[in-house]
Amino acid sequence: MVLSELGKKISGALRKLANRTVVDEEALNEMLNEVSRALLEADVNVKLVQALRQSVKRKVNLEELAAGVNRRKLIQKAVFDELCNMLNPGTSPPPLKKGKPNVVMFVGLQGNGKTTTCVKYAYYHQRKGWKTALVCADTFRAGAFDQLKQSATKARVPFYGSHTEADAVKVAREGVDLFKKEKYELIIVDTSGRHKQDTALFEEMEQLAEEVQPNSIIFVMDGTMGQSVYDQALAFRQRVNVGSVIVTKLDGHAKGGGALSAVSATKSPIVFIGTGEMLDDLEPFAPQSFVQRLLGLGDISGFVNAVKEAGVDQNPDILKRIQEGVLTLRDLYDQFQSVLKMGPMGKVLSMFPGMQDLIPKGKEREGTLRVKKFLSIMNSMTDEELDNPKVQFNQSRMIRISRGSGRDVKDVEDLLSEYKRLSKLVSRVGKNKALKTGDFSQL
Ligand code: GDP
Repeated sequence: MVLSELGKKISGALRKLANRTVVDEEALNEMLNEVSRALLEADVNVKLVQALRQSVKRKVNLEELAAGVNRRKLIQKAVFDELCNMLNPGTSPPPLKKGKPNVVMFVGLQGNGKTTTCVKYAYYHQRKGWKTALVCADTFRAGAFDQLKQSATKARVPFYGSHTEADAVKVAREGVDLFKKEKYELIIVDTSGRHKQDTALFEEMEQLAEEVQPNSIIFVMDGTMGQSVYDQALAFRQRVNVGSVIVTKLDGHAKGGGALSAVSATKSPIVFIGTGEMLDDLEPFAPQSFVQRLLGLGDISGFVNAVKEAGVDQNPDILKRIQEGVLTLRDLYDQFQSVLKMGPMGKVLSMFPGMQDLIPKGKEREGTLRVKKFLSIMNSMTDEELDNPKVQFNQSRMIRISRGSGRDVKDVEDLLSEYKRLSKLVSRVGKNKALKTGDFSQL
């Protein structure tokens, strides 16, 4: 999960509050101090942090609360809502229309990840069935076309560009016309970036936009810059009609929270985040699911969608059982199998409550091997063991399973302790209406 440190600190502060015997002003302040500290450490602007504190305090007026109101839940919901608000710009990105030629123009400074993101974006949509093509209108940087060509070829996305033409507007027009004629639905135009917000860059951007009349302009920015992206985002927004933003390099970067909140403060919706250098390191962004995952609550609806999109058969009873708070070893077995078919593991798993710890980012290979080991152990279990969560796994049972699967007893114990951990989380989901339905407004 991106920003896992921030997520851990905030959920830690909320858990501490939940474990308190008395929830009074002092407890509330202590929790808010911890949350604020965590946000500031993630480079969130101090004014945004203050606004969050004030909103939470306004919503949770402890003195006026009627007896019997669940204070812990009220506070948790207020913090959750305010974190969502912080990432919600209150505007929507321009929609793409299937079956029509959508032209999407990418803008941003050099080195922010624009070309990489164009190709990831093309790859993402192509996999979803969009007829997609790329146009390289970056005639400024030597090697830009070769870079796009190389990664577009890897992604198997058709591309257009020129090694000799210096007029970016001409190349863009030719490419867009060509792909429109060939009935492409998504034509992505990569434009040149410069070192800083220079006049020439903005003029070229305006001319390009005038020429290709994009349905949407996506601004790509570097998440490692933290809150300082605010001025940049505003400057781009003022010059061209930026419809949405993609924040890159959020993989494991401490300042990501600052970048995300700063972009939202410019009222531009973030549509995706970049989480690595590979083609599929691009994740759709929605404030509520992001905050749910940030706080380790999982994103059951996102998980179910991802499974559906991958076309993997999923036992429909699983979701129902999870929502009721029950997890059998057979459910875990089915889940592991779906996830192995879907890949990339870490990403899918982070949507399932508690599973991200099983396969940490960067350790996907080891994680996959571990899951395969677990599956082989479960293959040696009886139906009763797989289906009845009450079965006691005593030593002789574990030895039998270990012999049957050719694995160590230690591995069987490892699987059972993971199962126990996940069962506990799933039972929390069952008890929590909001987690069950994904509707946090009723929390
Ligand atoms: P451009 O000049 O804006 O087109 O930037 P590039 O697409 O050439 O990217 C600059 C560098 O950032 C390259 O080394 C990319 O691999 C890297 N990069 C882009 N997006 C990400 C990301 O989400 N995570 C990481 N870790 N690196 C990225």
